[in-house]
Amino acid sequence: MLKNKTALITGSTSGIGLGIAKALAAQGANIVLNGFGDAETPQKEISALGAKVAYHGADMSKPAEIEAMMAFAAEKFGHVDILVNNAGIQHVARIEDFPVEKWDAIMAINLSSAFHATRLALPAMQKTNWGRIINVASVHGLVASAEKSAYVAAKHAVVGLTKVTALENATSGVTCNAICPGWVLTPLVQKQVDAKAAALGLSNDEAKKQLLKEKEPSLQFTTPEELGALAVFFCSPAGDNVRGVAWNMDGGWAAQ
Ligand code: NAD
Repeated sequence: MLKNKTALITGSTSGIGLGIAKALAAQGANIVLNGFGDAETPQKEISALGAKVAYHGADMSKPAEIEAMMAFAAEKFGHVDILVNNAGIQHVARIEDFPVEKWDAIMAINLSSAFHATRLALPAMQKTNWGRIINVASVHGLVASAEKSAYVAAKHAVVGLTKVTALENATSGVTCNAICPGWVLTPLVQKQVDAKAAALGLSNDEAKKQLLKEKEPSLQFTTPEELGALAVFFCSPAGDNVRGVAWNMDGGWAAQ
């Protein structure tokens, strides 16, 4: 379905970004990966699906590096048809204890990077009159949790940015939507599982169950594969008129 389309997924060396990249690769899209850590293994995994793959290590907190990454993608594959703004970090602390540099980093990586990549991707999408911008927000783009001020503020703002992007392109073939996952067992969440296990003297399994019980009625983690399938739906012809939604895949978290 996505042959001859190019998808750039930020923060795709791990977790949800890699899951979405694999789902789009399986549909035939060329893939541009981004993120820190081991970039070799994810590239091999995408190649094994028969897709063309490239990697750029831009630090998404730095606008000049985002510009370089978008220019790299255009040089490699012509232009970006599908942009998935996914890179994100977390820090957990009460507001009065929240480190100022963590606030700034979360705003830059979880929010401003999506603005920069979007503003740079839009002109080529508008020219071809086809584009998909998928912002990986969070259930925390819809509801709050204590001790996550920067994350919740950034994710609510990502949902707002999604709506504005959708409206500004509403009469074109360019759509923008947000995905709002509940708990997904990635390194970002494993850190929170570890913190709970240490604080309450629980095993890894007990801490996972506790985390789910607090927020997610299904008592199941959402998976990167399920989120990848939702991204594929947004890219399908059936998604042509899905615009500006914040679609939760959260086991009932936000329904409470
Ligand atoms: P993860 O830690 O597995 O992956 C994060 C990715 O972002 C990695 O590839 C990492 O290298 C990259 N990254 C981090 N800082 C970066 C930077 N400055 N520049 C470039 N890349 C950077 O986490 P994940 O759980 O897969 O999170 C992905 C997205 O999903 C985030 O936006 C997160 O907020 C969101 N999300 C996660 C969950 C969850 O439960 N895991 C739930 C809702 C939303």
